[in-house]
Amino acid sequence: MVNFAKVQLKNSGIFPDMPVNIGNIVLDLKEILQRSESEQENAADAASPNGASSAPQGCGPILTAPGGAQKPLRQQVFERVRAAGRTPRIDVAKDLGISPGSVTALTSDLIAAGLIHEIETPHPSGSPRGRPPVALSVEPTARHVVGMKLGDFSHSAVLVDFGGTPLAQIDMPSETQKKQTDDLAQEAKDLLLALLKKAGLEVSAISAVGIGLAGVVDHEHGVVPWSPILVDREVALRDVLSEKLGLPVHIENDANVLTLAELWFGAGRAKSSFAVVTIEYGVGMGLVLDNRLYRGARGLGMELGHTKVQLDGALCRCGNRGCLEAYVADYALVREARVALDLNRDALGAVNLMLETLYDQAKAGNERARTIFRRAGRYLSVALSNIVHLFDPELIILSGERMRYDYLYAEEVQAEMQALTLDTGRKPPKVDINVWGGLVWAQGGAALALSVVTDEMFEAWGEA
Ligand SMILES: [Zn+2]
Repeated sequence: MVNFAKVQLKNSGIFPDMPVNIGNIVLDLKEILQRSESEQENAADAASPNGASSAPQGCGPILTAPGGAQKPLRQQVFERVRAAGRTPRIDVAKDLGISPGSVTALTSDLIAAGLIHEIETPHPSGSPRGRPPVALSVEPTARHVVGMKLGDFSHSAVLVDFGGTPLAQIDMPSETQKKQTDDLAQEAKDLLLALLKKAGLEVSAISAVGIGLAGVVDHEHGVVPWSPILVDREVALRDVLSEKLGLPVHIENDANVLTLAELWFGAGRAKSSFAVVTIEYGVGMGLVLDNRLYRGARGLGMELGHTKVQLDGALCRCGNRGCLEAYVADYALVREARVALDLNRDALGAVNLMLETLYDQAKAGNERARTIFRRAGRYLSVALSNIVHLFDPELIILSGERMRYDYLYAEEVQAEMQALTLDTGRKPPKVDINVWGGLVWAQGGAALALSVVTDEMFEAWGEA
């Protein structure tokens, strides 16, 4: 998936050289792409466990959730260190509002347990006498976790250390779109083993696997009532995968996993409330409120794609009419393209190719093709405005692999969103575009695994 996205972006000439104006900020698309690609390559360069490690960047939410105070203090200290990458003790004390003496005692425990270590940092200036300043950093080898995205036609996985640094990544095609549960489990195992072989690690070195997949996913009970990639319903997927992989497994809806990726590694790290919208074969949404992923009660929340934007409107793949998805998702665009441009699906093959054709024609000035994108953009504006009125997030992130269709973030979409939103004299939330590669989904799975492993570890350790 990573490679597909990259090849398309690089070779199809899709991106014009012009900068794209997104609200108040002007982004150069090529720069974003190069940045995101070079970040991935850097990650891949760090892909040998024996490789020299550069300064830790930190991962995880930077802000502390109000409920964070319920976590053991020792865990709070550990998470501050991990979020910072490296930080002196005095800053940890300031951030948590506790005494330097308490931090010293708690960090001694963490150092003794092999979870953090001291690193020397350069003197601020010149060559002063005395001991160089000391900072704390997570011991990256303390734990390793794997993140996975299981998809329709391909799967991806990433191995990260306890500091959140990716060590290896892998993509694998999948033959059948809708799979038998046992087949999916076997494919997940093949993916895991190929990843670990690449990294030179044994299964026993992995503490947990976090997995994202499309559909309704009950994270707490590990059950999938329905997924577009599974033949069966009500699958106890967590237990099936856990037994097959021989490791603790945690599962989550893919839009939530994408949101965790933004919260742990992306633009959401320093935001206490933000929404993530992703448009691919369907339309997904994730929400962070008060620094925490919002999961809802029954897995039906955040189904932005099935919110209604038109009574008795276009037919959605869910069977209802007038859902947002039926106007902006890949399959909706392809449906319109087939009629408007007289495209023959059999001749063109996959959805991706049809979309590329539609996009190329729009770029070349085909008015019917442009109208299809413009209309989808207007419906997206409605959805974004609804999100603003329901949740008032600080930031809306349009994330995922398909964000290259620039109708999604054209100025008109922004302007339309503002026009549909109550004018309070204040600025509407910023809308950011995050053009990640396919690795982002797997990284979200890794964030899920890191978060659960950390919680369980400190819970077992007991109060401090
Ligand atoms: Zn629907």
